[in-house]
Amino acid sequence: MNYDVIVIGSGIGGLSFAAVAGARLGKKVLILEKNATIGGRLHSFQRDGFTLDIGAHVISQSEKGPLGSVLRTLGKQGHITWKHVRPMTSYRGEIFAFPRGLQGRISEDEYSRLLNTTSEIVNMDEAASRELDDVDLRTYLMRKGISDPLVLACFNNIVMIYVCVPYHRASAGEFIRCFREEARSRASGYPVGGCGVISSVLAEGIAENGGLIQTGSRVKEIIVENGRAVGVRTENAEYRAPVVVSNADGRRTLIDLLPEGLLPEKERSRVREMSYSYSMLIVRMALKHPVTDLKLITHIAGLDPEQYEEALLAGRFPEEVPLFMPVPSNFSPECAPYGRQLLTAGAIIPYETPDVERLEEIIVETAEKILPGLREALLWRHVTTPKDLHAAALENGAIIGLGQSVGQVGKGRPDVETAVPGLYLCGAEAGGTGVGIELAINSTFDLLARLGEKDASWKGGAPI
Ligand SMILES: Cc1cc2nc3c(=O)[nH]c(=O)nc-3n(C[C@H](O)[C@H](O)[C@H](O)COP(=O)(O)OP(=O)(O)OC[C@H]3O[C@@H](n4cnc5c(N)ncnc54)[C@H](O)[C@@H]3O)c2cc1C
Repeated sequence: MNYDVIVIGSGIGGLSFAAVAGARLGKKVLILEKNATIGGRLHSFQRDGFTLDIGAHVISQSEKGPLGSVLRTLGKQGHITWKHVRPMTSYRGEIFAFPRGLQGRISEDEYSRLLNTTSEIVNMDEAASRELDDVDLRTYLMRKGISDPLVLACFNNIVMIYVCVPYHRASAGEFIRCFREEARSRASGYPVGGCGVISSVLAEGIAENGGLIQTGSRVKEIIVENGRAVGVRTENAEYRAPVVVSNADGRRTLIDLLPEGLLPEKERSRVREMSYSYSMLIVRMALKHPVTDLKLITHIAGLDPEQYEEALLAGRFPEEVPLFMPVPSNFSPECAPYGRQLLTAGAIIPYETPDVERLEEIIVETAEKILPGLREALLWRHVTTPKDLHAAALENGAIIGLGQSVGQVGKGRPDVETAVPGLYLCGAEAGGTGVGIELAINSTFDLLARLGEKDASWKGGAPI
């Protein structure tokens, strides 16, 4: 069988690329996925009638963002039902919405600076945001006169959810784009049936357009002839195509899958030195009965992110930890058996955090403080550690991918085109901008644009 393009990996990046290449450009696509299931970090699984997501829970702009464009390309826009949400912030026993809920908790002057800053962010144009790519978010906020520790902690809380890099390292330009697009779309949401539905709908559309997804096919090597990528080798087969796109992590692609000696040494060390987003210790809790009506709570524990990071790495855990807590069954009751509730509590932590078993208990204790009666309602819990995430192929167990920190966004981000002709990258580790899933899809759009510049048969892949 002849293919126009081979895609390594069926994460949202690989699926989105294959969807547009097949449906809009008529390309013959083969996706090779090492796992038995598709979706990578965007995959759901079942346990005792509950639907658990391995990773993503909230899609920043749902149908109004880049995912909507991919679904429209496939004619599948009506195939996903979205439940939208306004996240709530929890701090010291109170729950409020950012930013207006801060009124009365901080001085009037600080509150007015906060509103001016959020308004500047929402109205900022692309060029102005790009100028802030190499400024960290904390510095940007300080320049705006923001100094109240609670306001700074709220911004850190949001950037940790968006890019999983603390605000003293996260790129202000990237934060601004994420916040701006989410605020403009007012469409953060969760798909009915669980996040795995997104991957399934895309896979269905890819197959309808002649694409083939082969699971259980780990690519061992990228075949390079006369300096050009011409195909890939799995355990027991060889596949050839003029274009090879890797949705597998950029570092693994360039260091492990390319034959040695092909990548210039300078490029190899650059790739090795890149830093990844934080990982997560995830405690999913199946509950006998509902303990909350809220769909998404984000909890601020302490006020100083730098001290928190230091303490975690030294194994000095605080009494409570910041948490990202989606309640999937409040978005989509189908995710839990009738009358039950499914709650996820995730602590966003450095990959190297020691002694995560002890941290697991602190997560449950913190969640119990926010939602009293939680322990009593517990049927069972399912835990995923950073090491589990790493084993499932996420380099450094990274939640998002390559960190959107200063020096690694915009011009500093690895390009979708590699130094090896014919080999390209797409997903959360090259190109793109935005929150998690949307970062990976936007990387795909960057790649389609690049291919279109090089070859007329790839023109026409722009978002619709
Ligand atoms: C716990 C957690 C919570 C998250 N929450 C959110 C959220 O709420 N909102 C949000 O937008 N994002 C969230 N994210 C981030 C988001 O899920 C990722 O940024 C996004 O899914 C990355 O997609 P990708 O296509 O780049 O990579 P991946 O999903 O990692 O896909 C890469 C694929 O390549 C395959 N592969 C790797 N090597 C090979 C090989 N050699 N051969 C064949 N196949 C290979 C892998 O198995 C995988 O399927 C979360 C992630 C995690 C882990």
